[in-house]
Amino acid sequence: MPTYSPSRLNTYEQCPRQYRYKYIDRIPREDETIESFMGHCVHAALERLYADLQMAKAVILPEILGHYRQAWGAGWHEGIRIVKQEYTAEHYRRLGERCLTAFYHRHAPFSEGTTLGLEAKVAVALDEAGVYTIAGIIDRLVAVGEGRYEIHDYKTSGRLPSQDRLDGDRQLALYQLAVEAAWPDAKDVELVWHYLVFDRVLRSRRSREKLDGLKRETIGLIEKIEADTTFAPRESPLCNWCAYQDLCPVRRHLVRREGQAQPDLGAYAAGQLVNRYAEVSLRRRALAAELDAELEAIEGALRAAAREQEAEVLFGDTHKVRVAPTDGRITLLPREDR
Ligand code: SF4
Repeated sequence: MPTYSPSRLNTYEQCPRQYRYKYIDRIPREDETIESFMGHCVHAALERLYADLQMAKAVILPEILGHYRQAWGAGWHEGIRIVKQEYTAEHYRRLGERCLTAFYHRHAPFSEGTTLGLEAKVAVALDEAGVYTIAGIIDRLVAVGEGRYEIHDYKTSGRLPSQDRLDGDRQLALYQLAVEAAWPDAKDVELVWHYLVFDRVLRSRRSREKLDGLKRETIGLIEKIEADTTFAPRESPLCNWCAYQDLCPVRRHLVRREGQAQPDLGAYAAGQLVNRYAEVSLRRRALAAELDAELEAIEGALRAAAREQEAEVLFGDTHKVRVAPTDGRITLLPREDR
């Protein structure tokens, strides 16, 4: 049984096929999204900030931004992808700077609590036998008093979750279990998220019942993953950020059609088929709507004609129409009188 991590579990829930490529087949990928790259650079700058503070070194904003720019320059590579084409790398770089600047102004002089760990590796068993284990990395672990701990996590996401959602967040709650296992004096643990793009700090606590429930749910999810044999692709808007689109059956054709410098003729021809199919299907739908409207108008006229003729059945050359006297329902029938 492998050791699981919150991100590993998230990947499976997001898309089992992506999970298979990444964690089972272990297919290496050079490419990285700009969002992820910017997040790494921001994390690196914040790690350095708190490392300097631990060493009693005063920290000023230009220095933090300098560390960020250094991480950006040193880490930049050709495989970094910008999915949202309306933004440039420079937009993202500046966004990271803005996040750090806001963080600095909100928290300087950084005197809240004592940092116990930076990018701290933690692990915990979810069951007595130690079969189901979770490992992860805490961005910053802080002691704020006797037996009181805070688990801090930095997010550079452009989406701010609701409090409700954070109260059900799995990642930091699993880290809480690991912290409690490593430091038995941890009687009061608070989970803290820094949503840096929004300059917001969100907090949550977990009851013992919730943590026990989380253990059971996580073990259930791990068992489900272990039993999976198909790892079906799960298409979603997140596919745009997936590093395995060229392998995945629901995205492979798109990559072949649009993602290559050299045109792929087979992929182009398949695309043309789709175009034609869409054209004919849409035309058929429009025609059907047009004919339905015409039929409805004729049915109205037939009811009026049946009343005028004082007849329940009206005859054409090859067919007849029965107009139900009760509800006016119309039935088309072949003429059998000749
Ligand atoms: S492209 Fe989409 S469906 Fe395919 S593996 Fe990636 S996330 Fe899953």
